[in-house]
Amino acid sequence: MIANYENKELDPEILQRKMDIILDMEEDLIFILNKSGLITKVNVNGALTLEYKEEDLLNRHIIDLIASKYKVETMKAFHDIIEGKPERAFEASFYTYRGNEILFGINAKSFYIDDKMAEIVLIGKNITHLREVTEEIENLRMKLIEANRLISIERQRVNQRKSLLEELNKAKSDFVANISHELRTPLASIIGFSETIDSDPDMPDEMKAEFNSTILQEGKRLARLINDILDISKLEGGGIEIANFKFNIILMLNEVIDTYIKSAQAKNITLSREIPEGEIVIDADRERISQTIGRLLNNAIKFTDDKGRIKVIAKNLFNEIEIIISDTGIGIPETDLPYIFQKFYRVNRPGTEIPGTGLGLVFVKQIIDLHKGFITVQSEVGKGTTFAIKLPKNHI
Ligand code: ADP
Repeated sequence: MIANYENKELDPEILQRKMDIILDMEEDLIFILNKSGLITKVNVNGALTLEYKEEDLLNRHIIDLIASKYKVETMKAFHDIIEGKPERAFEASFYTYRGNEILFGINAKSFYIDDKMAEIVLIGKNITHLREVTEEIENLRMKLIEANRLISIERQRVNQRKSLLEELNKAKSDFVANISHELRTPLASIIGFSETIDSDPDMPDEMKAEFNSTILQEGKRLARLINDILDISKLEGGGIEIANFKFNIILMLNEVIDTYIKSAQAKNITLSREIPEGEIVIDADRERISQTIGRLLNNAIKFTDDKGRIKVIAKNLFNEIEIIISDTGIGIPETDLPYIFQKFYRVNRPGTEIPGTGLGLVFVKQIIDLHKGFITVQSEVGKGTTFAIKLPKNHI
């Protein structure tokens, strides 16, 4: 029944119907609460979203519908409004009839009649999907950060591998250059001297003998070099077997040193020894150990100037024998020391042309390793170098 108002627009019943239409058309959740928080009005779509009929929600306390995690925040918002704050925004999850949670972004506003707060209007926007999308974006952002981190690690690794490959390539081409030079030099002597002998049938016998001896020496040098290369590739392929025989290492050491007396004398180098008398029997590969000591002696002579000194010391320790080869030669810079046992590594000494391949110490280290021994080096540029080997008397 419509009351008789002059201006029908102001008729409360008409106003109420208008408001109902607006409320019913509204997609968002709309609640009108009384001062104590009881629901006095809810729009149809809002109730539907929460899986209720409108009438089932009326007179229920709003807090009963809010998920526990959001109750405190909601109470605070109401408190603020009751204390006079005209408007308050907050987020809260509502339980649906079937117990699911829907997250709403809520705007609460107080409604005053005669300066007294009469009601609170809540408008809630369903932001569950928005939150899911935000979370998904955050997830993706974290994954992106992680992916970028992995990419940068991988890039670093690739760069490292690249520079390692470049280093290896450089070492290999240095090696090829060195080895070609090393092979060509004795070969040139052999060919040169044999041609001279061949082209001069009247050559005096002494000269012929001298040339022949040079050819023999250079031939041996060539053979040594080829053996080095073969040894290294065998060692690398794991194809070297260590023979084990008991032998007197004192005898072996003296024999090796004796073979280097001549080349030391040729450079006016004093080659001395401090080796115990008698016998120290060890179980090892005599041939390989003898080659190893020989290589170290050869280096000592090669890298020691005229009038220098080389000393070989042997010490009989409890389970081991220690062999020290020390020279007063040119020494090894501290920065090169960590690398001298690496394949093809040669100390760069501009202006000096000392031949070599950078393989000798690789062989030495591998043989000592195969005997479960240790090799260490100490050196000072201009003062000399000391290699110390500790070999177990029985490594098996
Ligand atoms: P190379 O065939 O060049 O002699 P090695 O593997 O025997 O190769 O030695 C590696 C490098 O270590 C040499 O190029 C040399 O510079 C340095 N070196 C080895 N022994 C000595 C030494 N007794 N004194 C000075 N430098 C040495």
